[in-house]
Amino acid sequence: MTTLTTPEGEPPAATDGEAFLSVRDLEVHFATEDGTVKAVDGLSFDLMRGRTLGIVGESGSGKSVTNLAVLGLHDPRNTTVRGSVRLAGQELTGAPERTLERLRGNTMAMIFQDSLTALSPYYTVGRQIAEPYRKHTGATRRQARQRAVEMLAKVGIPNPGRRVDDYPHQFSGGMRQRVMIAMALVCNPDLLIADEPTTALDVTVQAQILDLLGELQQEYGSAIVLITHDLGVVANTADELLVMYAGRAVERGTVREVLSSPRHPYTWGLLDSMPRLSTPVDQSLRPIPGAPPSLLATPAGCPFHPRCAYTGQVEGDRCATERPALAAGRAAACHLDAHAQATLRRTTR
Ligand code: ADP
Ligand code: MG
Repeated sequence: MTTLTTPEGEPPAATDGEAFLSVRDLEVHFATEDGTVKAVDGLSFDLMRGRTLGIVGESGSGKSVTNLAVLGLHDPRNTTVRGSVRLAGQELTGAPERTLERLRGNTMAMIFQDSLTALSPYYTVGRQIAEPYRKHTGATRRQARQRAVEMLAKVGIPNPGRRVDDYPHQFSGGMRQRVMIAMALVCNPDLLIADEPTTALDVTVQAQILDLLGELQQEYGSAIVLITHDLGVVANTADELLVMYAGRAVERGTVREVLSSPRHPYTWGLLDSMPRLSTPVDQSLRPIPGAPPSLLATPAGCPFHPRCAYTGQVEGDRCATERPALAAGRAAACHLDAHAQATLRRTTR
């Protein structure tokens, strides 16, 4: 139980230099007719090469917006992105579109939830895999086609030499997801962002796709950001975990630390609201009462305080007035003291 006695605020263990992906104080604000939507509001995280970071949180917590910002895909006409996103030491916020375009698909790539919208219905899958490869490597048409066949084989598509000339609609959902993975990996990206990559798939196919990502990571040593609302998915796949709420990180640690001794009341709520194999049959799932706040007017103090059952355990009205910081390393952004964070959930369940 050493994690429970580690004082908050301690810096993370020394690492060899900067993380491969380093996000600091990221803000993504959308100007809308109703006002400013603070979709991401002061988010920081690090990811090392060869590691997988799981980002979890309810729908609308800012997971996708965060990663679109990493890829530089927000529309500058109505979106303000502030803070720092560094990839292999290179600052990406404010980088010229030309630079980002070169990095996208080549150094960093994304897998989306919905392969039907990510793939064009009008071109063969072979062409869609080969095209970015030609663009980034200057390979010939013939070489690129050969590469597409190789990639289809690699992601486990039977008869790749024939299927390379098929169109997306000729594949099942699971196979199409594999095609999208082949497309994302064709240039050996060092950073792979997978946004709910298995949400649309049934459980068996889901497990196959996650296994495949793990194998490819072993082979290529890529860093993976795995976005999901499903803690079960990260439990088996990720190394580190970042829990997001209302555009902020509320808890971080290794997957093991966060799942076995969660410290933030929001994480407790997430865990209690999800079915797990270990949940006894007679123990009903408890949804978190209330709803996430409007991001047009995020509550002052801790954004979770209106839904939190533990504000009475904190002196004065700090939860409503003072924004809790998220320290480096294993930490929760919560005003409960370390002892309460470590023990309250156990005694109240
Ligand atoms: P999720 O965690 O489910 O991926 P998102 O990152 O997609 O959540 O969205 C976070 C919040 O930002 C949501 O409230 C969403 O409505 C809002 N949002 C996303 N894109 C835009 C946009 N282009 N304009 C205004 N609000 C947006
Ligand atoms: Mg999303």
